[in-house]
Amino acid sequence: MSADKCRSDDCPNPVLRQGQRMVQVARGRCFKRNITPTYSDEVVEEWHEGCYHEFPLRPQRIPYKCEECRAPIEHGEETFYAVIGTKPATGYIRPEARGYELYLVRHVKCPGK
Ligand SMILES: [Zn+2]
Ligand SMILES: [Zn+2]
Repeated sequence: MSADKCRSDDCPNPVLRQGQRMVQVARGRCFKRNITPTYSDEVVEEWHEGCYHEFPLRPQRIPYKCEECRAPIEHGEETFYAVIGTKPATGYIRPEARGYELYLVRHVKCPGK
């Protein structure tokens, strides 16, 4: 489960509260026609939107491409990905109002590696 804490070392107030804008990195399998992959594992890391400076956030829409190997993400492949939205109520995992874009999409294990 998510620790509900912002990952940034510089965050002045690391608790992620309901309704705050956040970046969430998670792991899941991509299925065609679903904008958000399924959660095969769990939330990997979360930040306040303003605290996130790790990688450039380039929005992607279906069909997604791996930012590492540039190959298209095939049906059922396991990926890491980020979504941006607002922190949901306690007990819910996926951010709300997250729109139609994914960020930082990459294979958990790129094909051919
Ligand atoms: Zn923060
Ligand atoms: Zn890849």
